Amino acid sequence: MDRLLKMFAVVADSNGTEGNDTEGNGTTSTARIHDHILGSGIQLNDFRLRTTMERLQALGESPISFEAFAELVGAELLMLNRIFNRELVIPDWQEFCSDIESVFERVAEDCSGQNADYIPILRDADPDKWGVAVCSVDGQRIEIGDVDVYHSIQSVSKPLTYAYALEREGPDYLQEYVGVEPSGRPFNSLELLPDLRPFNPCVNAGAIMTAGVVASSWPDQDARGITEEIMKLWSDLCGAVAPVQFSEETMLSEKATADNNYAIAYLLRGGKGLPRGVDLNKMLDLYLSCCSIEMTASMLAVAAATLANGGVCPITSQQVLSTDVVKKTLSVMQAAGMYDNAGVFTLEVGLPAKSGVAGAVLTVVPNLMGFATFSPRLDSYGNSVRGVAFCRELVELFTFHIYDSLSGGRTGCKRDPRASQHNRKQRDLSDLRWAVSHGDRYAIKVRDLLLDCMIAITLADGEIDEPEIVTMAETYTEIMGHQPQQGELHAMAQNLQNLIEAEGNSAPFEQLLHRLATEQARLDDNGRELILEAAFRVACADGIIEPEEDEQLRGIARALGINEGVLELEIARFQRHQAAQRSVSAS
Ligand code: GLN
Repeated sequence: MDRLLKMFAVVADSNGTEGNDTEGNGTTSTARIHDHILGSGIQLNDFRLRTTMERLQALGESPISFEAFAELVGAELLMLNRIFNRELVIPDWQEFCSDIESVFERVAEDCSGQNADYIPILRDADPDKWGVAVCSVDGQRIEIGDVDVYHSIQSVSKPLTYAYALEREGPDYLQEYVGVEPSGRPFNSLELLPDLRPFNPCVNAGAIMTAGVVASSWPDQDARGITEEIMKLWSDLCGAVAPVQFSEETMLSEKATADNNYAIAYLLRGGKGLPRGVDLNKMLDLYLSCCSIEMTASMLAVAAATLANGGVCPITSQQVLSTDVVKKTLSVMQAAGMYDNAGVFTLEVGLPAKSGVAGAVLTVVPNLMGFATFSPRLDSYGNSVRGVAFCRELVELFTFHIYDSLSGGRTGCKRDPRASQHNRKQRDLSDLRWAVSHGDRYAIKVRDLLLDCMIAITLADGEIDEPEIVTMAETYTEIMGHQPQQGELHAMAQNLQNLIEAEGNSAPFEQLLHRLATEQARLDDNGRELILEAAFRVACADGIIEPEEDEQLRGIARALGINEGVLELEIARFQRHQAAQRSVSAS
């Protein structure tokens, strides 16, 4: 019963004191429950909450007592418990969404690149369209911008057709016809491996051969019929959030401009030969019609999340692909999904991804989330400029690169929104605080730097007065969990003040930066974060970030080796927080 009461307390309105009703008094309402669900990132039409939603609808707007609540949530208790207790994979969903929005805005400014122009429908697509959709492996979703625009998926179809062939034919047969090596060549290159197999399923030659394998396994079905089957797979992958469509116009144009793809097909037939002697036209028709499937960024994000989740669709819980097939598919995407830019992409972004010439990029963060972007302007490799930029910016800010886990705790303070990391971080921070009081050498170093930082910032105007000492002592207590030693702040301030008198105004701050820069290699992310937080709180004690404070914070972050973008997020968070406080006190 206790746990149910705890859940109720999260949503109950007990005489205006939200979140405190552990007695089971008070009531809640449909609207409040909806708000809590939406705030966690879960959508109200989520399959996993359908019983609860039906029951809520039947209750209408009438107040919901604890007893009614207990009855209401029973059928989907585990899911609701995770939602209300913030136990989904990204617990702080709202914060994460704000960060994603700021990356979205920044990337929107990039208008470089050009639409694909080999067929009218792509040439004439609105180049300014820009959408980003994210879906976590728990089905938390955010969608920004043009996420509902249907576009042909083009080469994004390639890894999925490969996965389909793997499920149907098994890896051995497929491997006989299609390699898994990065090609280092443009996507439409005619070049093959020395044994005359195509390099991999993500370039045209490999995708055409993969289509051949699939087409050869359905002798009684024509290319369109097989495409329908593959569209069903896409639909399951994206949790059927919207219908998967087919663009006849794209298909006609693709066929009319397919000379290069025909050349590849003839080369394949003349070299290795086609699987089970399949008809060359049927093979090409299947390849081109897979390119002509139409979806939206919001659908592709859920599909990416299904891949991130080992083949189980997060919002329907259906096992759509076996985990083994997903593992192989992601490996191929990692090696070749971004064509002849795949090496650089892996270096910089370190995530399996696949682009298509209509402007889609689908990216997978294994075990965490999938995301899809849509923006038609392409770079010279045929990848969406903004799509790639978004991926790059994201891994600058978050520990999503596969090798970020190698950092030894020194990532430049990149964010990690994962629940497990959130808990670990809290534990590490409280360990650090505890260790200070027992004289741990490392913890003391962090503490000293943190004090230096606070004092140098406070002294920036040339003097330190009693109220400032009080602010510092309070900040220190909040961050470290205990009070500074008696007289310690006074003594340190006095030392620095003497220094100012001897060497001029900016001396202590410059010395601080120098000291931070020398020490930073020995500090882990937790230590760096504590120091930056102290600096932040002291600099912004009055609720605004003055230009010189902004400059100081940037200097400190730089000296500490904290990514510029991470500081940017921190500042944006602070400003959001201040704005929210202002609107609360205004109302
Ligand atoms: N339809 C395009 C082609 O076959 C697909 C290429 C792509 O998206 N890179 O050339």
